[in-house]
Amino acid sequence: MGRFDGRVAVITGAARGIGFGVATRFAEEGASVAIVDLDETAAAEAAAKLPSAGGAGVKHIGIGANVGDSASVDAAIERVVTELGGIHILMNNAGITRDNLLFKMSEDDWDLVMNVHLKGSFLMTKAAQKHFVAQKYGKIINVSSISALGNRGQANYSAAKMGLQGFTRTLGIELGPFGINANAIAPGFIATEMTDATAARLGLDVEDFRKAAAEQNPVRRVGFPEDIAAAAAFLASDESSYITGQTLYVDGGVTLG
Ligand code: NAP
Repeated sequence: MGRFDGRVAVITGAARGIGFGVATRFAEEGASVAIVDLDETAAAEAAAKLPSAGGAGVKHIGIGANVGDSASVDAAIERVVTELGGIHILMNNAGITRDNLLFKMSEDDWDLVMNVHLKGSFLMTKAAQKHFVAQKYGKIINVSSISALGNRGQANYSAAKMGLQGFTRTLGIELGPFGINANAIAPGFIATEMTDATAARLGLDVEDFRKAAAEQNPVRRVGFPEDIAAAAAFLASDESSYITGQTLYVDGGVTLG
């Protein structure tokens, strides 16, 4: 018996990185998973790699969609419901960075980051919640970041990630009476292509960059997608049904001060 037998989970930006790690964990625990990502081929290839642990009826699909576009989002959620038979878990994980110091940050880079993280999470949640409310059951997980607390060169990303914490609290208040839990995870440094790209942008070797990040937190290692997947599995399960509106920092203690 898996915690997600008979459940359908949708994870955005899950063709790789943290999202793929979470998709793998949900699938291992019995869920049918829809991987939503910009590139349908990459999403489908990732879905084909997921394990099927839930027995008969378990199916994984990849869907190409832009979370910042309402028509694309509505079509994606409808496909999930039609092809997988429902929707029970939504993880808003798709993300991008467009880092720069404020005086050099372009309006486009501000808008792009807001569009993917904030508007994307809003549109996906709005499309999913009508199914959640009708069935009086749903789990929403938004992906924030330790950068919500402020990070040099990330005015756009930091604002979006703190915005997601406020969004999560409001979802907790509005949707709790309908059997829906909404929580956020704020990862610290997680070794993915996103952090590898940051290393490249700073002209640093990936391993040196990870080593330096590991030295900055009390547990003295970087995080991996599996660390976020473990927290997400708890928040998507019925073991956390009395927890809503919260942000769980999964960061090796780096924000403890
Ligand atoms: P990643 O490896 O860059 O993966 C992000 C995925 O999101 C990519 O597959 C990307 O597709 C997709 N995506 C981007 N824009 C999209 C859109 N408009 N619609 C649908 N999909 C879109 O990133 P990650 O490190 O796994 O990060 C996942 C989440 O965790 C993000 O929200 C990130 O901000 C957050 N986070 C990460 C860290 C970290 O240290 N890695 C720390 C804190 C928070 P393309 O490749 O086609 O662009």
